[in-house]
Amino acid sequence: MSTKDFIEKDFYKVLGVPKDATEAEIKKAYRKLAREFHPDANKGNAKAEERFKEISEANDVLGDPKKRKEYDEARALFGNGGFRPGPGAGGGSFNFDLGDLFGGQAGGQQAGGFGGGLGDVFGGLFNRGGAGTTRTQPRRGQDIESEVTLSFTEAIEGATVPLRMSSQAPCKACSGTGDKNGTPRVCPTCVGTGQVARGSGGGFSLTDPCPDCKGRGLIAEEPCEICKGSGRAKSSRTMQVRIPAGVSDGQRIRLRGKGAPGERGGPAGDLYVVVHVGAHPVFGRKDDNLTVTVPVTFAEAALGGEVRVPTLGGPPVTLKLPPGTPNGRTMRARGKGAVRKDGSRGDLLVTVEVSVPKDVSGKARDALEAYREATADDDPRAELFQAAKGA
Ligand SMILES: [Zn+2]
Ligand SMILES: [Zn+2]
Repeated sequence: MSTKDFIEKDFYKVLGVPKDATEAEIKKAYRKLAREFHPDANKGNAKAEERFKEISEANDVLGDPKKRKEYDEARALFGNGGFRPGPGAGGGSFNFDLGDLFGGQAGGQQAGGFGGGLGDVFGGLFNRGGAGTTRTQPRRGQDIESEVTLSFTEAIEGATVPLRMSSQAPCKACSGTGDKNGTPRVCPTCVGTGQVARGSGGGFSLTDPCPDCKGRGLIAEEPCEICKGSGRAKSSRTMQVRIPAGVSDGQRIRLRGKGAPGERGGPAGDLYVVVHVGAHPVFGRKDDNLTVTVPVTFAEAALGGEVRVPTLGGPPVTLKLPPGTPNGRTMRARGKGAVRKDGSRGDLLVTVEVSVPKDVSGKARDALEAYREATADDDPRAELFQAAKGA
C-alpha cells in the first residue's frame, strides 16, 4: 500500500466516528464493530472479513494518539483524499513513506501490508511486547548477555570466537501466534486491544495489560505445544563474534546491534560479553602493559650488558642493562605491550632478576674466589648495622 492510498482512506468513516471523536469514543466504536464483523461470528463471509480488516486497520491508526496525529496532519496537508501529485511538480518528491508516517510499521508488516490476508491484520498483535508497548511500533531487540574465555594472546591481539546465544524469538511452530493451528481468536475481554481500563483518576484513564490474554490481544484456541501458548520461544544460534584487541580479564564489552533481532523494523539489541582471560606462562598484564621477569647473571647486572628479552607474538628485543643494575629493577621496552583501543600498544615492563648459580666450578669458581678476595674489605652490611644502632 502506498502512502497515497493510506492517506486517502478515511479511517473516521470506517469506524463511523466524527473527526473530533475522543479516544474513548474511538475505542467504543472499534469494539462494537470488531464484535460485529469478527471472523468467528461470520464464518466464510468474505465481506465481513474485509470489513473486519478495515476496522482493525483504522483502529491501529486512530487508536494510537501519536499515529492519529500524524495521520491527521498528513490528511490536512494533502486534503481528504485529495492527494494528487502533479506531473513533474514534486510528483515523486513526497519522500516520506509509510515507515516514516507510521513509525516503521510497514517494514514489519508483510508485503501487501493491510491489504494482505487476515494474518497481516493480526501480524501486529502477535508480536506484541509487554504492557506499554504499542503493538504496531517497531521494537528494539533484547540485549543479550554472554561470556567467553580467551587465551592470553587472543585477549591481547583480538580474536574471532564462536558464541552460542539464546534469545526470545517468535515461536516458529505457531508463527508467534501461540495457537496450535495458527488461528487465535481476538481476546473477548479486551477486544484485541490487550489493555483493560483500571478506572480513572484525576482525568487520566489508566489501563492495565489484559489479564486474560496477558496483553497480547489474542487467545489461543488450542495452545501451541512448543511455546505453551506464549507465542515466544527460545532460539539459540551460534554467531562468530569479533572480540577487539586489548580486552582484559573480567571486562564486559558491548557489541552494538549483535543482540536479539528487532521486531517490525526495530533495531537489534546489543550483545554484552564478559571476557575471561587465561594466564600466560611467561607474560603478565598490567593495564596496557605486559610484564615479564628476566633472569640476568650477577656479572651482567654489575658490569652492564645487552640482554635479549622475549616479546609476545614478536621477535625478541635487546635491552641495554646499565652497569650496576640492582636486582628487581624494572625497565621498559616501548610499544611491546598490549594493544590499546586506538591500535597503539602499551609497553613491555621487564623486571630484572639476578640469578644465583647453584653450582660454580672450574674457571668461574676461580674467578669468583678471586672476586671475593678483591672485595674482602667491602662490608655490604656495614650500613645495615649502622642504621640498626640509630633511631
Ligand atoms: Zn485480552
Ligand atoms: Zn508456538
